[in-house]
Amino acid sequence: MTYAERVLEQAIKNNPGEPEFQQAMTEILPNLQLVIDKYPEYEEAGILERIVEPERLISFRVPWVDDKGKVQVNKAYRVQFNGAIGPYKGGLRFHPSVNASIIKFLGFEQTFKNSLTGLPIGGGKGGSNFDPKGKSDREIMAFCQSLMTELYKYLGADTDVPAGDIGVGAREIGYMFGQYKRITGAYRGVLTGKNIIYGGSLGRTEATGYGLVYMTEKMLETKGQTFDGKTVAVSGAGNVATYAAKKCMELGAKVVTMSDSGGYIYDADGINLDAVCEIKEVRRGRINEYLEFNKNAKYYEKGLIWSVPCDIALPCATQNELQADGAAELVKNGCKFVAEGSNMSTTPEAVEILHENKIFYAPGKAANAGGVSVSVMEMSQNASHIPWSFEKVDSELKTIMCNIYAAIYETAERYGMKDNLMAGANIAGFEKVAKAMLMQGAV
Ligand code: GLU
Repeated sequence: MTYAERVLEQAIKNNPGEPEFQQAMTEILPNLQLVIDKYPEYEEAGILERIVEPERLISFRVPWVDDKGKVQVNKAYRVQFNGAIGPYKGGLRFHPSVNASIIKFLGFEQTFKNSLTGLPIGGGKGGSNFDPKGKSDREIMAFCQSLMTELYKYLGADTDVPAGDIGVGAREIGYMFGQYKRITGAYRGVLTGKNIIYGGSLGRTEATGYGLVYMTEKMLETKGQTFDGKTVAVSGAGNVATYAAKKCMELGAKVVTMSDSGGYIYDADGINLDAVCEIKEVRRGRINEYLEFNKNAKYYEKGLIWSVPCDIALPCATQNELQADGAAELVKNGCKFVAEGSNMSTTPEAVEILHENKIFYAPGKAANAGGVSVSVMEMSQNASHIPWSFEKVDSELKTIMCNIYAAIYETAERYGMKDNLMAGANIAGFEKVAKAMLMQGAV
């Protein structure tokens, strides 16, 4: 057994009943053995045992009062996974599925993602099993305030800086930021994704989606192609999906699908994004309401979004949304590119199918790193008290995404796995964190 295999086996035992976290480790660790073969001193220093164990996992109760006057209780977490290269950075997710396994898998992935950005940020993640669906504005505020009343103790501009994720957008960040300020009496850059009028960054809302498309553009370029005239399947209907779709359209592609947890829409004419924004951002409604805007579109409650024929698939909803059956459909219909807007969108079986069939595939830890990158630009603007223009943010974002692509592509090639961007991302993300850990001693 190799060192990586031994550590993985033990880590799986140490984290029983946590399938998502086990999956993320199983996906990453085998690639890291290749680095260990080159630098045996990493084994001596216990780098792998340390990298799979979060520095700390904070778990706490969030009591709040609903509109009927009843006390509700949710579970919340913050994992401060790895701080070797900078303050912990990563979003907060509000979704009924949230548990320790999901937060740990996300925090683990975030460590590699943040390293890939080339920016000085460590990996963190958090969230709650609170379900924002159907809640009033006041209930959302009460929940956010209660969560921050506990979480504020662990935050700091140089310590831990959360942001949004599924179920957490500018509204939730605003309520949490207001509560942080009320408790501490200080305006500090402890959250990113703020509205621009009180210290947010232009371009943060668009960043993950735009960044995803900038990376996909590089993938297409490698194969001598462009977005022009391509058909794209996008899943999800949050800010990642929406702005990914917008940028694809700007580049001359047609986006034909979007989805939410209820089902997916197929619009052969190309999705009308104004309608999606009206439904999701203004009404906070369901994607099936899209039929009110285009009667020719179709809505499917069941069935696979990935069975819609496309050249490029951009999963932007949630983890494990692209499984073996979906991957087989993509292959069958001639799809050639998959890039993940959501974290760990693709199951290991599906990744294998994509690789076997030469579909060029970029994992979320590289392809969706644009969001956290612009978050760091927001931190920088907060620290200097000088706002940046949209053009400056967007051009920095583009540079970062191109650099990440170059790094993962080159790393995969250097390790004899040309076109395996997953291996390239795992190794390139690891190299920097491991070196930093070694330099800082056994901490
Ligand atoms: N939740 C996002 C991610 O998965 C953004 C994190 C951030 O901006 O800190 O990377």
